[in-house]
Amino acid sequence: MQREIIPDVKSHYNFVSDAWRFIFGENFHLGFFRSEEMSLDEATNALTDELAQLGAITKNSKVLDVGCGIGEPALYLHEKYHCPVIGITISAKGVDLATKKCEERGYAHMLQFQLADALDNGFPDKSFDVVWAMESSHSMKDKEKLFAENYRVLKDNSTMLLCDMFLKRELNEMEIFNYRREITILEKVCGKAKAETFDSYQKRLKAAGFIEVETVDISEQAFPTMAHWRKNISNNYEKITQLFPKEKIDEFLMACDITEKFYRNSILGYGLVRAVKGHTTT
Ligand code: SAH
Repeated sequence: MQREIIPDVKSHYNFVSDAWRFIFGENFHLGFFRSEEMSLDEATNALTDELAQLGAITKNSKVLDVGCGIGEPALYLHEKYHCPVIGITISAKGVDLATKKCEERGYAHMLQFQLADALDNGFPDKSFDVVWAMESSHSMKDKEKLFAENYRVLKDNSTMLLCDMFLKRELNEMEIFNYRREITILEKVCGKAKAETFDSYQKRLKAAGFIEVETVDISEQAFPTMAHWRKNISNNYEKITQLFPKEKIDEFLMACDITEKFYRNSILGYGLVRAVKGHTTT
C-alpha cells in the first residue's frame, strides 16, 4: 500500500477549521443526543453541559480550556455558567477565529484565547479550578505529559474534565494490520491521533496523581452525530468545495462510515472523564 502522509495536528487544524464549520457547526466535537429531535447545535452544546455539570462548574471556576478549537465551548461555558475561561490551542487559525467571536460577543474581559502547547502550557502551578479537555486528548500521543501538565496547573482539590473517543478494548496487532486502511482514513480526516481505552486513561490519570477518577460511557448518545455531519455536507456541499478539495469531502464521508462501523463492532466508544487533584503539600 502507498504510504499516506498524515498532516501534523497544527497544520491539520489550520487547514480544516473553515470548512469544518459547515460540517460540525461551531463546536468541533460530537453531540449528546438526548432525543432524535435535537439539532446538532443543541446536541453539541448539550455535551458541553454534560461535562460542565459532571464537574459542577460555577461562576467562580477559573477554567483552562485545553485544545479550545474555535472557541465555542469556552464561549458557551461563559454564557451559561458565567465562569472566566482561558482557551489554548496549537492552531493559530483557532486562536484568530475564537478571539474574533469573543470580541463580537463582548466577552473579551472574561475570556482569552492563546497559542500554546497543551504539553507545556507555560501557566504557573496551581492556577486553575478546572482543566477542561474537550475532544482534544486523542490528538496528543503523550498522554502522560498531558495529564502531568493538567495536574500541575490545577489548584488543590480541583477537577480535570475530559471527553473524547475511546477504544472499547485493546486491538491486537493482527486487527491493527487488518484495519490499517480504515485507521489511515480516520487519521487523514482527524489529524494524527492516538485513541486509548477507558482503562488506560484511568491508569494514566491515577499515575499522574489524580485521586478520584470517574468515567461515563455516553457512546449511545454521541454516535448519532455522524448522520448530522453527512446531512450538513450534503446541504453545504457547494460552500465546502470552495474550502476543501472534493477528495477531502469523500474522505470525511468515509470516516463517518468507518467511525459508525467501529462503534457497531464495539471498537470505538465515547466517554466523559472527571478526575480530582487532591491536597498536595508542595
Ligand atoms: N475543544 C474544542 C476543539 C476540539 S478539536 C471543541 O470541542 O470545539 C481538538 C483541538 O485540540 C484543536 O483546537 C487542536 O488545535 C487542539 N490541540 C491538539 N493538540 C494540541 C496541543 N498539543 N496543544 C494545544 N492544543 C492542541
